[in-house]
Amino acid sequence: MAKEVWVDKEDCITCGLCVDNLPEVFRYDDDEKAEAFNSSGASEDEIQSEAIDQCPVGCIHWKD
Ligand code: SF4
Repeated sequence: MAKEVWVDKEDCITCGLCVDNLPEVFRYDDDEKAEAFNSSGASEDEIQSEAIDQCPVGCIHWKD
């Protein structure tokens, strides 16, 4: 099974990076915090390099 990605919304500063880079995976919720709605919308490598590694507050994680 593909790995699942999630956003720790408490720490999200709504910078837009993950939503802009991977709109097939991330979107804003009603509070304008990012959420991962589709972990299979991009490859694990893309999610790692274009979202997790670049989030300025490091609040995007893989589920165990
Ligand atoms: Fe929030 Fe991080 Fe996404 Fe920026 S990159 S919108 S801080 S989860």
